[in-house]
Amino acid sequence: MEFRELGRTGERVPEIGLGTWLYTGGESTIRRAVDLGANLIDTAESYGTEDDVGHAIIKFRNEVFLATKVSPEHFRYNDVIKAADDSLRRLRTDYIDLYQLHWPNPNIPIGETIRAVEKLVEEGKVRNIGVSNFSVAQLQEAESSLSRNRIVSNQVLYSLVNREIETDLIPYCQEHHVTIIAYSPLAQGFSNITLRDRTGVLRSITREIGHTEAQVALNWVICHNSVVAIPKTSSVSHVEENCGASGWRLSPEYMARLNSAFPD
Ligand code: NAP
Repeated sequence: MEFRELGRTGERVPEIGLGTWLYTGGESTIRRAVDLGANLIDTAESYGTEDDVGHAIIKFRNEVFLATKVSPEHFRYNDVIKAADDSLRRLRTDYIDLYQLHWPNPNIPIGETIRAVEKLVEEGKVRNIGVSNFSVAQLQEAESSLSRNRIVSNQVLYSLVNREIETDLIPYCQEHHVTIIAYSPLAQGFSNITLRDRTGVLRSITREIGHTEAQVALNWVICHNSVVAIPKTSSVSHVEENCGASGWRLSPEYMARLNSAFPD
């Protein structure tokens, strides 16, 4: 597994992690992911999987880089503090490696939310602050509200069939050392990608280079600087396949062929 620096923290996260929305893989799939280096495990208070994740990692918590999220309806100061405590209890841990604001909430001043998250950092309950689904403008507003910390990551939709962030968000994050955590990198079901591959480019590249279609699709995501991906799978064999998307790079020629086969 190859690793990338998280923001400008000096800390390293794997190029391929594990998402847990709708996760039902218990301890074995997470254990296999961690053994293969995919120790960035992503959950959220809204997924209903924090409890399962907490249970699964209880024996090897210190090997995991644990990411969770606070929901926008909990962005008032006291609600953030309570949401974090509730997540910590469900996750059976006393610290969250990456605490992410799940979606922007235009009805609550971002400064109030950031103040609460910085308090959690001060108390040692949160190690790093991230956001999710934030535009460049929303990211800049969040960054300017911080007093002692930085936004280290922005978790956003990105795959061969969802390329909207390429216009301005990827360049901004690369320039400002904000790691992009690509969610739904397999488009929430691999057929959503293969059905769009009308000219069979993905299939033919797969044959030429000896990797699977899922590995090529994931490698295309992580070929972009500052981007890591968190495919969800409940199955050990898919974890093994997905981890095989790291450690090599598609050539510029293959990248170009995929870019034109899957136009934004
Ligand atoms: P995804 O990872 O793009 O796709 C998951 C689907 O792909 C599952 O049906 C999974 O089935 C299947 N799959 C996984 N590996 C495969 C492989 N090698 N071959 C074929 N199929 C494979 O979709 P996602 O769950 O939406 O996104 C990933 C994670 O991102 C989520 O779990 C969550 O942590 C995060 N997320 C965040 C947000 C946000 O707003 N921040 C939104 C959505 C998702 P199996 O389980 O059977 O393998």
